[in-house]
Amino acid sequence: MTESLDSLLAALARLLSESRVAVGFTGAGISTESGVPDFRTPGSPWMQNKPIPYEAFLASAEVRREAWRRKFAMDDLYRGARPGVGHRFLATMVSSGRMPAVITQNIDGLHQQSGLSPEEVIELHGNGTYATCLSCGTRHELDGIRSLFETEGSPPPCRHCGGILKSATVSFGQAMPSDAMRRAQDLTLSCDLFLVLGSSLVVYPAAALPSLAKRNGASLVIVNREPTKLDAEADLVIRGEIGSILDAISLKWQYN
Ligand code: NAD
Repeated sequence: MTESLDSLLAALARLLSESRVAVGFTGAGISTESGVPDFRTPGSPWMQNKPIPYEAFLASAEVRREAWRRKFAMDDLYRGARPGVGHRFLATMVSSGRMPAVITQNIDGLHQQSGLSPEEVIELHGNGTYATCLSCGTRHELDGIRSLFETEGSPPPCRHCGGILKSATVSFGQAMPSDAMRRAQDLTLSCDLFLVLGSSLVVYPAAALPSLAKRNGASLVIVNREPTKLDAEADLVIRGEIGSILDAISLKWQYN
């Protein structure tokens, strides 16, 4: 017999109340309610504008032009996205002192928009709201790149060193950011509750963190619309929409 949603929510409220150090771990599913599409829901516009692997990006100027065309096409789709219930829930957890930081696979900057400081968001896959030079690391804003791309048909080189500019995301085949990975692992090992919101948990090494938390003695909770790879390991799985689940939890459970 499947447990009722009410008893699952009561179990989540209990775990939240008992927790001393909780960690939020988010994937693209937390941002769909803000209008940012995820990868794996059928019909995703990411499939028409697939991210280009790092090696191909480095290999050819033509591929780089195509990568920027796809990037700007996707940006246009979710321009103006604002944090949703899930982002706000986690921001409240952090501000109440129950959660040191959020670990995210997302590149949309919505956790920062919800009020978290850069130190309170550990970005495993970088950030798509700005670009960096692959040679000298200088940050470049997208508006300037875009206006040159539109007038000249190509992205500009770095204004400091002439290097290649790339969206500050971590592409397939690109090295993971070592500082973010180390912080994420440390936090995972320090928590007693690991709360996964909106991830299919198929992208590694990020998807290894929930199992690491569980093996280290934390309770593992997965909230997702559909089954994930790690449901069998979890202490609690709540299947449904993040917004309605967390709205319901906020009614049942007081943060303080
Ligand atoms: P994913 O697309 O593989 O999985 C998202 C999961 O969230 C799916 O299982 C889906 O069923 C579920 N979901 C979607 N909307 C939901 C909702 N409202 N409530 C509950 N569940 C919901 O995403 P992933 O696991 O994050 O991995 C994909 C990779 O794509 C990540 O590396 C990420 O960097 C990148 N990505 C990021 C964004 C973003 O920044 N918003 C968007 C698309 C892809």
